[in-house]
Amino acid sequence: MTAVVDVRNVSFSYGEQPALEDVSLTVESGDFLGLIGPNGSGKTTLLHVMLGLTRPDAGSVELFGQPVDAFDQGERIGYVSQKATSQDSTMPVTVRECVRMGRFAHVGHSRLDDEDREIAEDALETVGISDLADRRINQLSGGQRQRAYIARALASEADLLALDEPTVGVDAESRDAFYRLLDSLNESGITIILIEHDIGVVTDRANRIACINTKLYHHGDTDSFVESDALSEAYGTTGTVVHHHH
Ligand code: ADP
Repeated sequence: MTAVVDVRNVSFSYGEQPALEDVSLTVESGDFLGLIGPNGSGKTTLLHVMLGLTRPDAGSVELFGQPVDAFDQGERIGYVSQKATSQDSTMPVTVRECVRMGRFAHVGHSRLDDEDREIAEDALETVGISDLADRRINQLSGGQRQRAYIARALASEADLLALDEPTVGVDAESRDAFYRLLDSLNESGITIILIEHDIGVVTDRANRIACINTKLYHHGDTDSFVESDALSEAYGTTGTVVHHHH
């Protein structure tokens, strides 16, 4: 079976500063990959490399079996960046318009039929923001905005969702509901890559863990990660590890 993402021997530096050193990992269809590591350990950089947003200095990346440079199925990927809570702040589109844009990405033309519009409404319903459809994106809370971007990805029928600390600034209750939504999307077959600083949240739901600190300290099953020393190795014995269980 073709991997959703295949990263081979990737290295990347910002100037002299190495951010990734010889990182290799694969994400299989249906995986829920938790990407963890201390602050500044290269998580966002690795995600950008995986999605073709940053070109590595060495190594190769394939997305859905295509070399990332030639990848032309962007509608299959939903990416909610760390800045998603602040982006579009001047964009006067409504939530419904934003989600329909996902549908445009899928059908590849500029006119939506009734079925397309229905798919967009279903996506709003799935993420629980149908009641916000007529609000402008820039009037939503951070958590509501994350859901709007996920709905847009669902409307484009993305089968890979990549999220970079999606619940920063989201209250505890909304956060739990958000993670239940991710669980159900993953159960429906969507592959998920999640950067999250709360390790308990990750080990509770991810089937695979990538633990990095410039180098990859673990890539594999969550169970074998929990039993390994990768966490203390990657974080260092003096590092603060957020360990929060529900
Ligand atoms: P994480 O997501 O784990 O916090 P990042 O991938 O954002 O880590 O950053 C990895 C390292 O690269 C950090 O030391 C960070 O300061 C540095 N870095 C990130 N982006 C840039 C940039 N645009 N220019 C220079 N250094 C950067």
